[in-house]
Amino acid sequence: MSGAYEELQPYLERIQAFQTAKVLFEWDNETLAPKEAGPNTSRVVGTLSGEYFSVITDPKVMELVKLCRKEELGQAEAAVVRELAEEIEKLERVPAKEYREFAELTSEGSRIWARARKEKDFELFAPTLKKLVEYTKKFASYRAKEGQKLYDVLLDDYEKGFDMETLDGFFGALKEQLVPFLKKVTDSGVMIRDDFLTGDYDEADQEAIGRFFAEYVGFDFHRGVMAVSAHPFTTNLHNKDVRITTSYNSHVDDSLFSVIHESGHAIYELGIPDELTQTLVGQGASMGMHESQSRFFENIIGRNQAFWEPVYHRLQEQFPRQLGHVTAEQFVRAVNKVEPSLIRTQADELTYSLHVLIRYEIEKMLIEENLEVEKLPEIWADKYEEYLGVRPEDVSEGVLQDIHWSQGAFGYFPSYALGSAFGAQLYRYMKGQMDFEGLLRKGDIKTIREFLRENIHRHGKLKTSRQMLLDVTGEDFNPQYYIDYLTDKYGKLYNL
Ligand code: ZN
Repeated sequence: MSGAYEELQPYLERIQAFQTAKVLFEWDNETLAPKEAGPNTSRVVGTLSGEYFSVITDPKVMELVKLCRKEELGQAEAAVVRELAEEIEKLERVPAKEYREFAELTSEGSRIWARARKEKDFELFAPTLKKLVEYTKKFASYRAKEGQKLYDVLLDDYEKGFDMETLDGFFGALKEQLVPFLKKVTDSGVMIRDDFLTGDYDEADQEAIGRFFAEYVGFDFHRGVMAVSAHPFTTNLHNKDVRITTSYNSHVDDSLFSVIHESGHAIYELGIPDELTQTLVGQGASMGMHESQSRFFENIIGRNQAFWEPVYHRLQEQFPRQLGHVTAEQFVRAVNKVEPSLIRTQADELTYSLHVLIRYEIEKMLIEENLEVEKLPEIWADKYEEYLGVRPEDVSEGVLQDIHWSQGAFGYFPSYALGSAFGAQLYRYMKGQMDFEGLLRKGDIKTIREFLRENIHRHGKLKTSRQMLLDVTGEDFNPQYYIDYLTDKYGKLYNL
């Protein structure tokens, strides 16, 4: 360890501590906190953010980072310094007061959003959203390099190397190939029964089966917990404390597959080695790489016929009345049924990326074209009608369905579609390395999980997603694998 890096250590510890506390409050806000706690908690979070800000922008830290960059460091140390330097660059241009106001606004924002969604009242959220957009644009403008577009600054935060030019190409290919393919599917006349997925599914039973499948795919309950929240998510404190949430309704597949999805996120974080955890590089490489893992578990593993062969009986045992007469094959067809719908998180695998495409186009308009917030519900509805042939009747199933914007996360959505595409590229490669479906049939998830841990998880944030994809598959990002995977899978299901 170099002298300067050693001197930096206590600052890094404080950064970690403030971050961890903030994350824990976020978790608490969404799960257990009483309704009225909000405003007071927001103040605490605001203070913590302020402290975080003052460590990062401490002149001493900046000086040490400069010194470290001149020294010979190990791979992990160098990566930590690189991350810190980027964080400094992000924050040093933002006035402390504005940073703190923004932190309070995002903490408050998710609660206002939740109320607006519940009351189906966009007007309630619009003024907050407007402020969030203004702050986001202002912060991006502080950081934009000469000639750099504001939305590109935001995209870079979530997925390095994927700017609007790359994403226009990616989403363009999806639009060109998947929209007509979807039309063929919906016109095929093939009817898939899925009525048995909805009904009187007891919550305690859903929780029991959720826990079983979380563990079956590799979630470790000694290093993680599962709770209930409005919108399923994963919180990562460190590799010994990774938390997932789910929510229950009368559709048994919603909770089941959300648990497998969040388990995929959690398994990624649980796979971070001890040397990296609680450092700035001790987490998933990027939002997109994270989604690649969660959606890999949810769809490529979880919605695979082979996956269910050894364990379907377990689901039937939990729900004998509802599923006793349904075969594994019928069940798997049902959970893969294509049905253009309004809610992204409940979308089938084929239409999913079109939901993301809509958000991408709208974010571009909000950030780059000064779209007025008030026009959002209408534009949202029009785009759903255009790409998916469905139109929301109210804002809770339209523009207010996702939490992201209320948290100030603009530029995040594209990662969902990118993640699916990364996953498909990994799947294609892995099939050449192992008998993927054979392993699933034997109930051997471990071999697949170990491959992902060895090639992806254990690297944490040492490399970018794009580099990792290249190192694992020997090829740069190639969206065609995703399109081929979808058209092949659904072509078979719909006899095309
Ligand atoms: Zn996810």
